[in-house]
Amino acid sequence: MMEKKVALVTGGSRGIGRAICVRLAKAGMQVVFNYQSGEEAAAETVRLCQAEGVEALAVKADVSHSADCDALVQKTLEFGGRLDVLVNNAGITRDNLLMRMSDEDLDAVLNVNLKGSFYMMRAASKVMLKQRSGKIVNISSVVGILGNVGQMNYAASKAAVIGMTKSLARELASRKITVNAIAPGMIETAMTEKMTEKAKEAVLQAIPFHAMGAAEDVANAVAFLAGEESGYITGQVLCVDGGMAI
Ligand code: NAP
Repeated sequence: MMEKKVALVTGGSRGIGRAICVRLAKAGMQVVFNYQSGEEAAAETVRLCQAEGVEALAVKADVSHSADCDALVQKTLEFGGRLDVLVNNAGITRDNLLMRMSDEDLDAVLNVNLKGSFYMMRAASKVMLKQRSGKIVNISSVVGILGNVGQMNYAASKAAVIGMTKSLARELASRKITVNAIAPGMIETAMTEKMTEKAKEAVLQAIPFHAMGAAEDVANAVAFLAGEESGYITGQVLCVDGGMAI
């Protein structure tokens, strides 16, 4: 019997991360994910994955600490014996206009979105290099491509994710390990719930589909880039955005 593949997803307790966990479970992968504080939500993600007939493990870990990231990869190996897929999904926003954006707002967003993805890729690629196989999918954002008012910190972090994706894709290509990014547009989750109706309406006008996406739209794209059928694709950025970044 073929050994089940093992996927590690950051920020899997809710939103897009949860949809990714469930989608990869549906594809037959064992799933390990981390959360920061949402223990009950994490337990629900575990249940949803198990309902797809696979094993799942939730680990409390803060991706802005490199030691937590190393430990998360270690726990994944103890749980599943291997690491086939890493999805860097955990991300935060601290929006404000530049004039009002504090050093703390900048640091918090860079620490999670940029450094967290870096630490996870460094820890995971050591394992994947030894295995001589693996797939990394980073969740960026159309904001990292287009920029956005009030999101200098977030745009910088998500543009950095694209730069890191392309760099690591080059570093790992000789071992056939792929590294790609997904740039979601406006997806309905807790992150977008915070927006005012006026702000939402303005964004909808800028989306050719005139509609928000669902977390499952992003999860389906992740499943493709984490699966066998995308074997010759690396260093790419796939927008899942209803045409927003055309
Ligand atoms: P969300 O609903 O706010 O969920 C964020 C997830 O990240 C939660 O599981 C949270 O854990 C976890 N997390 C936050 N800080 C963390 C930390 N320091 N260490 C570990 N985990 C942490 O966000 P979302 O809307 O699903 O977004 C997911 C990703 O997609 C993010 O990278 C975001 O930037 C990106 N994205 C979202 C949209 C959108 O429209 N929603 C658009 C473009 C890109 P807890 O539950 O424990 O807090």
